[in-house]
Amino acid sequence: MFNDLQPITFPGVDPDQPLVIAGPCSAESEEQLLDTARQLAANGVKIFRAGIWKPRTKPGGFEGVGLKGLLWMQQVKKETGMYTATEVATHEHVNAALDAGIDLLWIGARTAANPFAMQDIADALRGHEDVPVLVKNPVNPDLELWIGGIQRIYNAGIRKLGAIHRGFSAYGKHLYRNEPQWHIPVELHRRIPNITIVCDPSHMGGRRELISPISQQSLDMGVDGLMIECHCDPDKALSDNNQQLTPDNLNIILNALVVRDTHVSTENLSTLRQHIDRCDNELLEILAKRMRIAKEIGTYKKEHNMQIVQAARYDEIMKRRVKQAESLGLNPEFMKEVMQAIHEESVNLQLSLFEGKK
Ligand code: PEP
Ligand code: MN
Repeated sequence: MFNDLQPITFPGVDPDQPLVIAGPCSAESEEQLLDTARQLAANGVKIFRAGIWKPRTKPGGFEGVGLKGLLWMQQVKKETGMYTATEVATHEHVNAALDAGIDLLWIGARTAANPFAMQDIADALRGHEDVPVLVKNPVNPDLELWIGGIQRIYNAGIRKLGAIHRGFSAYGKHLYRNEPQWHIPVELHRRIPNITIVCDPSHMGGRRELISPISQQSLDMGVDGLMIECHCDPDKALSDNNQQLTPDNLNIILNALVVRDTHVSTENLSTLRQHIDRCDNELLEILAKRMRIAKEIGTYKKEHNMQIVQAARYDEIMKRRVKQAESLGLNPEFMKEVMQAIHEESVNLQLSLFEGKK
């Protein structure tokens, strides 16, 4: 499965440069769409995005202009020659978008979290194997759900299939609107090595100032492209106004991005990687040793009818190691998480001993 995925490329779009998809969060009026599109095209953007049907969390918000927006998209394509992209959430959306000649479809984060909706879209895509489709990550950090959604589209015959990393929602206020949780797209890439991955810094950052740093970071992480929201008058946008850029600001940001060369010699890197591999080996051996000792302690506790977790001891370990981490130049928060995970595994081992499993 997935071995025969194809890259998402378009005639006239340089396949050696990051794929750039830009345009407003939503199509609002014909003037707004064309004004934005003309400016983007003049700056060399080749793929134009706009939401026609907007999934909003709260009812009463702007829910998109619907079908008439597709006519404006046709106008954009005719006038600027840009390829067009929109979000689909139902089979009706797929049919209408394809009938209107939309060149690329994407599936939003709320839809990607719903297997019924994904299947509905997949069924509508059957027979349209040439259409490129991008699947955003589900709102919740669940890689299996993301891969499951991608698989449904793959099973419908789509091979120009990619993923959009737009971050994951978290409870409470954070720097990012949606947390990057880079380990998830990294694992997606490991599981499906030839999948195109596009980053959406707009929905990830939620704020204009974050678009540039997130875009650079995502390129450094090896993504294949960027989807960025742009509006001719961002402050007046009917949706996501805080995160949209003017086409000119997008241009400045894109021009400043450093695209890493994947072809440079990796000789020095390979020596460093050998060091890393040795460190990982040592780490694993030490961890295995620690777990063996934890088991011995568990046996002792069982024989002496003692409780598994002694809160004071746990507290002492945590405080001591976090402090030590700091003096070694390690991030104490990171160390806290590592120690918590190690301690949790030790407790689990001891618990299964108590239950007589091991
Ligand atoms: C969008 O791209 O405008 C959108 C609704 O994004 P997401 O599905 O990532 O929230
Ligand atoms: Mn948006």
